[in-house]
Amino acid sequence: MAQREICIYPDDVLRQKTIPVTEFSRTLHTLLDDMRETMYAAHGVGLAAPQIGELVRVTVIDVSDSGDEPVEFINPVITAREGNVPSEEGCLSIPDFRDTITRSERVTVDAVDRNGAPFQVHAEGLLAICLQHEIDHLEGILFIDHLSRLKRDMFKKKWGKRM
Ligand code: ZN
Repeated sequence: MAQREICIYPDDVLRQKTIPVTEFSRTLHTLLDDMRETMYAAHGVGLAAPQIGELVRVTVIDVSDSGDEPVEFINPVITAREGNVPSEEGCLSIPDFRDTITRSERVTVDAVDRNGAPFQVHAEGLLAICLQHEIDHLEGILFIDHLSRLKRDMFKKKWGKRM
């Protein structure tokens, strides 16, 4: 396993759409292991492949208290949504910025595991939020895109000063 560098906004790779995984090979397993290590090193609860510059439809999430229950989602798709909740979010690719957006309260996600076996998750709470955040990444969408125009302008001002 190797820790990988996390791409930081406004890196263009964060705006690209990913392609679905078709080969469940050692290359994929190495990528997943690297993502897991990178996520834990950064103290994140989720990491999407574009965040380390890989444009494939893969995310790793661990919302457990113990931080040792990673779940790998290959080719995840949200197939159902229910309700709305406010969600205060941050992103490893947008350091030192947090804000509140609206997410679906519950989601159903269809995905496959690292060997290509399909599974389905009915998620709520932090897992539901995290899945929406990470699956957005796979479409080139960042949580700041869900901010109101006013808040987004504030973000741009703040971020512009940092650059
Ligand atoms: Zn993120």
